[in-house]
Amino acid sequence: MNFELSIEQKEMKDMAMKFSRNELIPVAQKYDEEGTFPMEEFKKAWELGLVNTCIPAEYGGAGFSETDAVMIGETLAYGCMGINTSFMANDLALLPIKIAGTHEQKEKFLKPFTEEFKIASFCLTEPGNGSDAAGIKTSIKDGGDHWIINGEKMWITNAGYADQFVVYGTIDPTLKHKGISAVVVPGGTEGIILGKKEDKMGHRSSDTRGIRFENVKVPKENMLGAPGEGWLIAMKTLDYSRPLVASAALGGAQRALDESVKYAKERKQFGVEIAKHQAIQFMIADMSMKVEASRLLVYKAAWLVDEGQRNTEIASYAKAFASDSCMQITTDAVQLFGGYGYSKEYPVEKLMRDAKLIQIYEGTSQIQRLVIAREVLKK
Ligand SMILES: Cc1cc2nc3c(=O)[nH]c(=O)nc-3n(C[C@H](O)[C@H](O)[C@H](O)COP(=O)(O)OP(=O)(O)OC[C@H]3O[C@@H](n4cnc5c(N)ncnc54)[C@H](O)[C@@H]3O)c2cc1C
Repeated sequence: MNFELSIEQKEMKDMAMKFSRNELIPVAQKYDEEGTFPMEEFKKAWELGLVNTCIPAEYGGAGFSETDAVMIGETLAYGCMGINTSFMANDLALLPIKIAGTHEQKEKFLKPFTEEFKIASFCLTEPGNGSDAAGIKTSIKDGGDHWIINGEKMWITNAGYADQFVVYGTIDPTLKHKGISAVVVPGGTEGIILGKKEDKMGHRSSDTRGIRFENVKVPKENMLGAPGEGWLIAMKTLDYSRPLVASAALGGAQRALDESVKYAKERKQFGVEIAKHQAIQFMIADMSMKVEASRLLVYKAAWLVDEGQRNTEIASYAKAFASDSCMQITTDAVQLFGGYGYSKEYPVEKLMRDAKLIQIYEGTSQIQRLVIAREVLKK
């Protein structure tokens, strides 16, 4: 067993951290306040090869392992969890193609993302179906030589800018999960109607919207897998993407810890740095323990993918533990900063707002516990 990153991984992490410090941290607060989409930073990250980490080398990607991907995700989220959400949504929307696409589909729907800068969206959630994703109502009907999509999606990241969508729908709602199917829909296809940009608590620079699909026609060859295989594809996608989302929580938590340590050594009360007070030391010790435990779970969940082993249970441990810890750590960071922590002049209030979303998207912390309990009880 080896817990060390390789020399190449350390170099990649250093490069990602340089990008985070030089390009993300300086704009994060302003973009958060204004709700600016991080287009320029997204393009720069693409040029450096820090996005679309899931694309295999044979389709023009860097051929990163899942471990490489979580390492990059952690480092970019350190700079800004919100901006990283926009980056990460690309991978979420490309993973189903990597997992279930034919060679032709990968050539057509993955490769272009390595040739020019493009944005993608993953459309599973609907206004009435979030956690109960198997109950989605968007219909995918056979139109002869094409599929016809009708329905409404909600909370779709990157939707306002997407060049390509992966849309989940059902060929027959009475079949529940056995009817779910996934199709690739090019951006700009007639019948795609974008909703308003949601005004959110955190991750305010990321673009989140509802979308309606009204008689949207896509060629038959755009379906991933066979009709009815979409549920399996979505579940496999989550096994890959949950370690990535967990890595974002880890990055945010590490940032909150680092900011707290720095502040605790500067701020004086009762004649000494607050770091000299034992209550503050215990808070920092708890934060640090949780960061390290999150890191071990995140990297184990990713390592299992790289080893070709099933990671469903550990991926849910990583997602639930890292996101719940990030929430606790960022809340404690605000506490440690006192009144200044509550002000937008310091970064920790944004970290606390951003942390909350990671407990919600890609399966809430409650849903992760359902997955874990199911996995444990069936042993
Ligand atoms: C900013 C943002 C970005 C997002 N991006 C995307 C995206 O790009 N693509 C996409 O498809 N979706 C996206 N989502 C949707 C996200 O994945 C869902 O919001 C999430 O899965 C929860 O669904 P819901 O909001 O409908 O909550 P609900 O499912 O209605 O849940 C409400 C509450 O009930 C709890 N709950 C529900 N069922 C159970 C149960 N069986 N047992 C115990 N507790 C339960 C939940 O944990 C939660 O606390 C995004 C959401 C947000 C907020």
